[in-house]
Amino acid sequence: MKSFFAIGCMLYTIFGFGFHATESNAFDPFWMRFLVSSIGFTVVILSQISQFFKRNFLMSLFLTMLVYNAHFYFLLYMNDFHPNYKLSLLVVMITTILFINNPKSYLWYSILNLCTYEFVLLMSDNFDKDAMLLGMMILLVLIFGYLKNREIEYAFERLKKREEQINDVNNNVYYGIFRIDMESRLLYANEQLVKMLGYSISEDRMVISELRSVLQSSSEISRMMQNNQAIHDYEVQLQRRDGSDFWGQLSLRPVYNDKHKLECYDGTLIDITSRKKAETELMLFSAAIDHTSTGVIITDKNGGISYCNPYFMKLTGYAAKEMMGKRLEDFGVKDDNSNLHMWTKLVSGLVWKGDLNFYTKAGQIITELTSVAPIRNDKGQIMNFVIVTEDITDRKKAELELLHAKEQAETTTKAKQQFLSTMSHELRTPMNSVIGITNLLLEENPRPEQIENLNILKYSATQLLGTINDILDLSKIEAGKLELHEDNFDLHYLLINTKRTHSINAKKKNLSLSLKVDEILPNILRGDQLRLSQILNNLVGNAVKFTEKGEVKIQVNTKRESLEDVNLQIKISDTGIGISKEQMERIFDSFSQASSDTSRKYGGTGLGLAITKKLVEMMGGTIALESQIGRGSTFTIDLTLKKGSKAFKAEKVAEVGEFSQLHGIKILLVDDNKINQKVASKFLSKWNTIVELADSGQEALEKLKNNSFDIILMDIQMPEMNGYEATQAIRKLADKEKSNIPVIALTAAALSEEKEAAFQSGMNDYVSKPFAPAELYSKLAKYTSPNFGSTKETIKLS
Ligand code: ADP
Repeated sequence: MKSFFAIGCMLYTIFGFGFHATESNAFDPFWMRFLVSSIGFTVVILSQISQFFKRNFLMSLFLTMLVYNAHFYFLLYMNDFHPNYKLSLLVVMITTILFINNPKSYLWYSILNLCTYEFVLLMSDNFDKDAMLLGMMILLVLIFGYLKNREIEYAFERLKKREEQINDVNNNVYYGIFRIDMESRLLYANEQLVKMLGYSISEDRMVISELRSVLQSSSEISRMMQNNQAIHDYEVQLQRRDGSDFWGQLSLRPVYNDKHKLECYDGTLIDITSRKKAETELMLFSAAIDHTSTGVIITDKNGGISYCNPYFMKLTGYAAKEMMGKRLEDFGVKDDNSNLHMWTKLVSGLVWKGDLNFYTKAGQIITELTSVAPIRNDKGQIMNFVIVTEDITDRKKAELELLHAKEQAETTTKAKQQFLSTMSHELRTPMNSVIGITNLLLEENPRPEQIENLNILKYSATQLLGTINDILDLSKIEAGKLELHEDNFDLHYLLINTKRTHSINAKKKNLSLSLKVDEILPNILRGDQLRLSQILNNLVGNAVKFTEKGEVKIQVNTKRESLEDVNLQIKISDTGIGISKEQMERIFDSFSQASSDTSRKYGGTGLGLAITKKLVEMMGGTIALESQIGRGSTFTIDLTLKKGSKAFKAEKVAEVGEFSQLHGIKILLVDDNKINQKVASKFLSKWNTIVELADSGQEALEKLKNNSFDIILMDIQMPEMNGYEATQAIRKLADKEKSNIPVIALTAAALSEEKEAAFQSGMNDYVSKPFAPAELYSKLAKYTSPNFGSTKETIKLS
């Protein structure tokens, strides 16, 4: 096409110029004709080969036309100054300017130039018909050429656009598209495939060899290709350029040419690595669910079962088809409230956890710890429920059995407690009598040979009572029933008393018993004085008991003192028989003694240290033991006690006979036990008091109503109306004088809660049975003294 135009333009230049030139007789220099034609010709040729005008021959045409017009004008001017030359000149100038501004419309400028030429020619005086026709022909050729060219350009553009579209589509798909020749060499690869194989898009795709090596190495693919067969969705493991593996899904389709000869293969490759991974994970999950010892059930949004794992089927005995579509409740125990609760919670989108009871196919009830969770779709709508169950039938059974056992044990413990309480009372009452009567006999000037016997009797009875108290204490501690009572007490006084209690025995064995108390130790502390004294008495008692010669030391140090409390260290050390390492490990266990020899030689039950340790721990302290066989033992108690009120003053137990204020006071002694009555009244009479006896609470009330007394000694455990009830009735009497009468409890059990109850019922104080005469005397003196009313609220001596 280009050459077609080029030749046309060339002819026109030569001939056109020739016509005009011959018209002019006046001016016909040959060289001029030749020069101008050559210029036109040169421009055409140059435009054809010029890089700038590449594929743009119309542009060259325009330039040619421009030259023609210019040359035409020149001719007219040179010949006879035809008046239309100005028009030619004008058009040349305008189209030149237009071309400079918008080179793309060169075609129109060319046509304009040509038309001007024709017009000028027409208007000229020397109208030449042939030249005109030739011009017209060229114009037609130009228009035809233009139209043809446009058509070709459009077709070319459409093709280009289509190619671009195909490329775009090919490159925008998520999978690789490629074409390979019969030797599996890559002929075409879209961007996705290039990237998939680890190359960059700008690289030459022909260097990609990974696909080829896979196709060639797979015998199945090679075989199918040899048989000209298509391959669909073939899963294959490939390698990227960097050596990393990925899974691809390959499809190949043979491509035939017009002559039905196989030319190449078109293929697609999809990266299915994540799908493969998900499939593997799914497979593992599925295997895990199939083999787990937990029931897994999946239901639709309405609760209809759509999956059930083998474990749950085995557990319930149902086959999968028997379960599908049914609801979980269909297998559940009907009156199980959990079901209702479960669905209410699930519908509101929450996870439910709880126990569910199911019937197995065989009719047995199984208990499952069940958790049900709703599964939602992207829009948040509940689509399924996943149910996980753990079989707790055996555990529940065991729990139930344990509960029964516990209840039974509690009942037994209660019965044991009751038994111990009754027994202790039954044992204490006669023991009190024995000790009381012995005390009495000792007071009644016995003969010297009787004194020793009476002392042995008193010692044995006291020991027996101690043992009874220990057994009772231990059973209380073990049942968690023992409570500590916090009150103000004087530690120094308590320590002195402890030393005094044991000094008689120490003296008998020729042992030195010393007490050393840190000077900075505050006197008044808060705690359970009774129990602390029990601890100290046990340790000091043991130290004296298990030491034949040497000394027993009681040392108390202040380790730390703050505004509120004080940290004490109480050490009780002796130079006695000592305890071996093995024995030390179990010495604090109940009923544990160092050896059978020890028990034979020293007696004891092995309860003291067990009680001591438990009491110390209840007080928040610790007890430690250091000992060496034959060299002695040291028990160290570490204890923190609150500081007490400085205003508190411990009451000094009066020595009997120190006061004579009991003389003539009227005492109502209430006790259902005749021996107790006898023992107590003997002492009371000795102190010149007037004693009136009452056998029960009821009788005491009657007697109080009809007589006047200074004080009442009230036993607690009595039939019909016990001591508490009687005291409460007394406190309610209308006569103020009688209702305010001091009441001292005579408690046989010596249990702390009995003492507590005594105070609560309105009693003023208590004395433990068997009473120490001095203590009883002291308390009677205290409550019958004229200034009792002013002190009774502040003094409470345990
Ligand atoms: P009991 O003294 O009534 O047997 P304990 O619980 O108080 O019971 O003591 C248990 C045992 O620990 C004693 O039998 C004795 O063997 C040993 N024991 C306790 N204190 C000492 C001590 N200070 N020195 C040597 N042995 C001791």
